[in-house]
Amino acid sequence: MGKALIIGAGGVASVVVHKCCENSEVFTEICIASRTLSKCDELKEKLKYSKTKITTAQVNADNTDELISLIESYKPDIVINVALPYQDLTIMDACLATKVNYVDTANYEPLDTAKFEYKWQWAYREKFKEAGITALLGSGFDPGVTGVFSAYAQKHYFDEIHSIDILDANAGDHGYPFATNFNPEINIREITANGSYFENGKFIETEPLSIKRVYNFPEIGNKDIYLLHHEEMESLALNIKGIQKIRFWMTFSEKYLTHLKVLENVGMTSIVPIDFEGRQIVPLQFLKAVLPDPASLGPRTKGKTNIGCIYQGVKNGKDLTYYIYNVCDHEACYAEVGSQAISYTTGVPAMIGAMMVMTGKWKKAGVFNIEEFDPDPFMDALNRFGLPWQESFNPELVD
Ligand code: NDP
Repeated sequence: MGKALIIGAGGVASVVVHKCCENSEVFTEICIASRTLSKCDELKEKLKYSKTKITTAQVNADNTDELISLIESYKPDIVINVALPYQDLTIMDACLATKVNYVDTANYEPLDTAKFEYKWQWAYREKFKEAGITALLGSGFDPGVTGVFSAYAQKHYFDEIHSIDILDANAGDHGYPFATNFNPEINIREITANGSYFENGKFIETEPLSIKRVYNFPEIGNKDIYLLHHEEMESLALNIKGIQKIRFWMTFSEKYLTHLKVLENVGMTSIVPIDFEGRQIVPLQFLKAVLPDPASLGPRTKGKTNIGCIYQGVKNGKDLTYYIYNVCDHEACYAEVGSQAISYTTGVPAMIGAMMVMTGKWKKAGVFNIEEFDPDPFMDALNRFGLPWQESFNPELVD
């Protein structure tokens, strides 16, 4: 069918590459392009028996001109951005210049401010529309599948959804005292930022990790969950009819939070550059360099993730509660693609989002969040490509 240019060669990219190769009738050719060429070549080597033709390239995705020449020479049908959120805008600029579709898994963040907002990417709406190309934003799990679940709940079960609790549990154990499951810099920026929730038309900010509950997750059991700000709340607040309240919850162990607190207290999570022996370094980037590489956690991680959403609203005048979730096993993911479940649950939806656009199932010119498309073909593909979902109409509630 077509060609995809995959930018990035980290934990998530590795899963995207495996899954594109599993789906070689859609992805007949892929190019893996990243800053470090050897990582792209290693991925290519792992999949050398695939039917999908794989090439690799070195690219600095902070540089739009470099991206444009790569896109012009490779001529992909879509660019799958699984580098870091800092590169979203340069990659979108290159897609615009070459009129190629775009998909990512995380919203743009400026390097010097830990701020998660769609405004920078939504500002491209008219330009993408005029160019006749699609930008699909946030096609990971959260954001991503959580938006597809929301569109599905809205389409099939509710007249109006009034509240959404997004619940992200990771009960995986990698055996290290402290490590993050995806890029440590992005992960720690997200967790140490202020929390927030949406209520009655506005966002209410909270102190970082100041709101805690305990939730009994199917197949995982009781876990401490903490309220965080998360980017999909911003688009769901606009796209879900009748919505009054949205909260995002993530599990953290006491051990993880104690380590994080100490690192924060000594200044290691700061993104403000400091002078160190005559050169400027960013403490958080230094911390990233000493922490385990998330891609190396795969063979060590045991246990499961459970990510899903609880919806409350009305159907035919009656109150309705609906919970939909996916349970993913770290060891099963590793056995299948050599990655732990966090990379897996992000990489599979990134491939599916790209497939939706490439096959024309999702065809609209402009910049869109994932819940703005028909969820049904994506939901089928989740079952087919390794992220089956389960439903309950009588779940335990958060409060
Ligand atoms: P990694 O750090 O493992 O990989 C990032 C990759 O991007 C690396 O190969 C890195 O290259 C490459 N890269 C970074 N900067 C550049 C650049 N300027 N030019 C070219 N390549 C670059 O991250 P993950 O795979 O864990 O995460 C990838 C993305 O997925 C992130 O944006 C993250 O926020 C998102 N994510 C989304 C989730 C969701 O559910 N929506 C959940 C988890 C992650 P190098 O090897 O040289 O450093």
